Amino acid sequence: MKDEEIDDLKSSRREFIFMGAGLGVIALAAAAGSGVFKFKADEAEIKANRVKVLTTDGKLLEVDMSQLKEPTEDLYVTRESARNGIPGRKFVMVIDLAKCKNARKCVEACQAGHHLGKGQEWMRVYLLQESSKEAPFWFPRPCFHCDSPMCASVCPVGATYKRSDGIVLVDNERCIGCKFCMTGCPYSVRVFNWDKPESEDLKTPYTPETNLPGKEGTVSKCVFCADKLRQGELPRCVQACPMGVLYFGDVIEDTVTNGTETVKFSDLIKDKAAYRYLESLGTEPSVYYLPATDRQFPVERGLEGIDPEIKERYKNTNPYELTKHSHE
Ligand code: SF4
Repeated sequence: MKDEEIDDLKSSRREFIFMGAGLGVIALAAAAGSGVFKFKADEAEIKANRVKVLTTDGKLLEVDMSQLKEPTEDLYVTRESARNGIPGRKFVMVIDLAKCKNARKCVEACQAGHHLGKGQEWMRVYLLQESSKEAPFWFPRPCFHCDSPMCASVCPVGATYKRSDGIVLVDNERCIGCKFCMTGCPYSVRVFNWDKPESEDLKTPYTPETNLPGKEGTVSKCVFCADKLRQGELPRCVQACPMGVLYFGDVIEDTVTNGTETVKFSDLIKDKAAYRYLESLGTEPSVYYLPATDRQFPVERGLEGIDPEIKERYKNTNPYELTKHSHE
């Protein structure tokens, strides 16, 4: 590392936020919200209180551990950063349908994390069945963060936008509630805030990265937990899934993880014949599905203990007649 870069760093008074350490890998984010920083440090370096940081503009800097601080939930993100996204990243999700048993932990974590009311599901689990001869399967559906998002192209005020890191967000402070995006989205992922959202009274500053505090009369949807990604963490749904169904990662790094298993993205989608839902529409989703072959759980289990109102949704697909397909 060059001396002038170290001097630069010393004089910049930049403060870094400590995101966690495991296997000698630590991720950092700048307090000013200018992007995600990552660094690798081995034990010797940590003991010496000096660590190397790779900034989003590609500079390798050496910082003192004393410049790190614990992250807080309300990291300030500028409007510009929230519009532009995290430089050098292209996020992707892979959903392994063979593992899903509708545990609904993804839905619960999403709703709790985004203060969503009952029935307002940014992540929704459908029960699909291709034909009466085929077994049904659970189908978790977040926003697909399409590379050609119809929702963004029909928005008359630029409230919905696509970032360089692939995430599609809604700026509720621009949204006029016209619902064109709800009509434009072929996957019905958007929800309208008809009533005053529970989160409207939150004291945190508004950010499109969480859609919080919520705003009555506007549209919201899954944000791929852009706030968590900025802190170097996985989306809430991925962290919460007990079955390891959801993989999340970066196309540029060609890596996805479900929190316990980390795999090469390109190999995974090739080896398991991944597909994107209704790709023929030209939407180019950032979410891939692995087919529900060799299911690991019988489908009917997913209905145990479910709220009757939610169970009602599945009445048109009868999983009970498919007991014969059970792997038990
Ligand atoms: Fe927009 Fe719908 Fe695609 Fe999400 S799934 S980016 S809301 S068109």
